[in-house]
Amino acid sequence: MAMERTFSIIKPDATRRNLTGAVTKKLEDAGLSVVASRRVKLTEAQAKKFYEVHAERPFYNDLVSFMTSGPVVVQVLEGENAIAKNREVMGATNPADADAGTIRAEFAESIDANSVHGSDSAENAQIEIAQFFTEDEIVG
Ligand code: ADP
Ligand code: MG
Repeated sequence: MAMERTFSIIKPDATRRNLTGAVTKKLEDAGLSVVASRRVKLTEAQAKKFYEVHAERPFYNDLVSFMTSGPVVVQVLEGENAIAKNREVMGATNPADADAGTIRAEFAESIDANSVHGSDSAENAQIEIAQFFTEDEIVG
């Protein structure tokens, strides 16, 4: 297994309920280290760009509205097999399908307000990290 970096967002439903620490604890307990972190309010342009791959999906506009509805915390996570490990600790997109103990099973409100984002591949992790952090802001 390789040391990897992945990109995480603690979404507005979680920051609104003051769950930044609780979500981060789940990530850290899974063996992931937070090597960069910043709280930001995404602009519409940033959210649209970030979710560009979903532009044709029926939920795209609602997703962009939701992601700009309040502050988020963007993070770079580092660890062995970090991309898959993060997806595992996040749980399924729909919290109704998420395994017990996962972030989404414990904290998500719905399929759209589902508390966290995590990169789904090494290629996307690199693209997503680069949208928010420069290399000197990541301290491993
Ligand atoms: P994931 O975040 O698990 O990688 P996707 O990449 O498929 O899931 O979707 C991105 C985000 O879009 C989801 O996290 C969720 O917030 C939203 N989303 C996905 N599917 C739906 C849906 N059917 N209805 C509403 N929102 C959705
Ligand atoms: Mg995704």
